[in-house]
Amino acid sequence: MNYTVNKGWHDPKIIPYQPVTLDPAAMIFHYGQTVFEGLKAYRTEDDQILLFRPDQNFQRLNRSSERLSIPHVDEEEVLYYLKQLIALEKEWVPKGEGTSLYIRPFIIATENNLSVHPSACYTFMIILSPVAAYYPEGINPVRIYVEENFTRAVKGGTGTAKTAGNYSAAYNAQNEATKQGFSQVLWLDGVEKKYIEEVGSMNVFFKINGEIVTPALNGSILEGITRKSMIELLKSWDMPVVEKRLSMDELLEAYNQGLLEEAFGTGTAAVISPIGELIWRDQKMKINGGETGNVSKRLYDTLTGIQTGKKADSFNWTIQVNSL
Ligand code: PMP
Repeated sequence: MNYTVNKGWHDPKIIPYQPVTLDPAAMIFHYGQTVFEGLKAYRTEDDQILLFRPDQNFQRLNRSSERLSIPHVDEEEVLYYLKQLIALEKEWVPKGEGTSLYIRPFIIATENNLSVHPSACYTFMIILSPVAAYYPEGINPVRIYVEENFTRAVKGGTGTAKTAGNYSAAYNAQNEATKQGFSQVLWLDGVEKKYIEEVGSMNVFFKINGEIVTPALNGSILEGITRKSMIELLKSWDMPVVEKRLSMDELLEAYNQGLLEEAFGTGTAAVISPIGELIWRDQKMKINGGETGNVSKRLYDTLTGIQTGKKADSFNWTIQVNSL
């Protein structure tokens, strides 16, 4: 589907996967005006296809677009096209424990112009790809290190937007983490390098002395849909989540007092990723003996159960894709 100033969004079409042709002067190549989303569709045991909270993804896409001076899409219209696309490619939604169809909607600036201004033309695309189980051998805790040199995103910059630059800004730190044998980094705020923000591609939660805490949204943390869903789920279990600013000093103090009981990341890819070990400067925090905690396990089982139709969806989070 394309956008031009005169016509708005127009000409939606479903075509076979293929390369796209762009002019070398297409503005996306030069000024990074692009936004994207990531969500999943799941196959239930009785062969229904379920989408998990797609409305939230398209709302977030529009919030990202706003920051990047990209025109809004009609959220209901793009959801309708997505359902059509999946219904047509239903066989691409894999069968099997933990598998899903990954969905990548994105928008790129396509005006051919080297001067610096918001593009007058855009293309919105959705690509689909089956993905294997994230945990083929069962849910597994990860090792994370706290990043102090680089900043992923700052408030007032591209901040909370889901846009390319926030990810390429993270590569150096991610490379360093991989080299040192960690799976991801924990980002701190870009100003004081003091407050916890999020993990690579996940939001982060801690259980401290019986209370579940997550960093409050602050204009740079990505507004994760799994994060939001976990908060709603925990509230329904009478375990309200405290959203607040949390510093590394406070976390270390809690750890040293034996009060840091659990830590986990949340995101579309892993759903829940328990954090078994956190390294900050020369401090090594082994959390819950490096094992998956009870809250992480219960959240993982419940959310994956709802997503795959095995558990009742009392929140109305899933949307069924009907056949064409
Ligand atoms: N933070 C970042 C930086 C991410 O890329 C993601 C993945 N979209 C998340 C958090 C988790 O967000 P969600 O739960 O919507 O997948």
